[in-house]
Amino acid sequence: MARSEDIYVKRIYQRIVTLGLVTHGSYIFIYAFLHIYALAAYNVFSVFFYCVMLAVVGKGAYRVAVSVIHVEVCLFVLVSVLAGGWDAGTSLYLIAMASLVYFCPYRHRYVPYLFSLMEMAVFLVLRIYTAAAHTGHVPLSSTAELWLNVYNACAAFGIVLYGAFNARVSAAVSQRILEDENKNLADLANYDQLTGLLSRHAFQERFAQRGADQAVLAMGDIDDFKLINDTFGHACGDDILSAAAELMRRQLSGDVDICRWGGEEFVFLFRDTTLQDAVGEMEGLRRRIKEHLFLCEEGPVYITMTFGVGPIVSGNGLQDAVKQADEYMYIGKAQGKDRVVAAKEEE
Ligand code: GH3
Ligand code: MG
Ligand code: MG
Repeated sequence: MARSEDIYVKRIYQRIVTLGLVTHGSYIFIYAFLHIYALAAYNVFSVFFYCVMLAVVGKGAYRVAVSVIHVEVCLFVLVSVLAGGWDAGTSLYLIAMASLVYFCPYRHRYVPYLFSLMEMAVFLVLRIYTAAAHTGHVPLSSTAELWLNVYNACAAFGIVLYGAFNARVSAAVSQRILEDENKNLADLANYDQLTGLLSRHAFQERFAQRGADQAVLAMGDIDDFKLINDTFGHACGDDILSAAAELMRRQLSGDVDICRWGGEEFVFLFRDTTLQDAVGEMEGLRRRIKEHLFLCEEGPVYITMTFGVGPIVSGNGLQDAVKQADEYMYIGKAQGKDRVVAAKEEE
């Protein structure tokens, strides 16, 4: 589970338990005021119970807390209705709580239904029992009964609305988490993990989407990189690749897509740029790379790169342009590396 969701879920349960704690706390005063001391005492026990539940939720044992709370609510309503009568409206809690159990991620999906059924059963049994049993015992005055009924109805509405509010917020949180995950997946597909440059796939997609009128394509390859790996180790090679990519990003200006084509090869697409300007940019990058001191654990390293640059001929695809730049680059390798070889202007 994502961390932000984890914190959010804990907060929901803490609020629900706190709500229970406050409600039962208020009952101590209400019942004491109405001189129903047995129920006041019962609610003292309930307050203590909800304090323990806060600790249980704090430990992340949501299933235990929610299960025990639902049983406690049934017991509370049972005791309150038997002692205070049906008309005080305590039974409304059973209806309100029946939906709240669906917040808890039980391993078996049918568990919340069982709790809801239990609450429904207690509600119906109490209703039938209180209607049938004429004990002659009238625990509350009609005024007290009315106010208690209003209080219980408000509290029950509060629980239902709180549940609905949380359902809405949790849907928004889930959507945000989904969006973050989608973005991470897209980043994984579109960006090379080592260098942060465009992946070949993303580069090709951009080329297809945006086209490449008046564009120039360059290809660059690190010279003698195998030797660098063999001398300083693969980890050093990785550090150099990522540092070189950072230099490329900082050095090149204008509308340029930089892609890690593969291994130690990079492709650059300059849009709205003349061949001459693109060659100038690559020459600047070549110098910058050559002058840069790369620091590896095994020691300082200097590297050079060879580049091939050519215009993108209208109507030609990316593969043709890459092939052309690759050919110029290999001319540069054959001429002794560490250089920029470009197509002639009139080509
Ligand atoms: P040249 O000057 O002709 O380009 O010689 P080179 O040694 O650079 O070329 P070669 O193709 O022989 O070797 C490329 C090396 O790049 C071989 C491979 O191990 C290394 N390489 C490719 N990808 C990575 C990578 O992600 N990390 C590291 N450290 N090395 C890589
Ligand atoms: Mg190389
Ligand atoms: Mg290579």
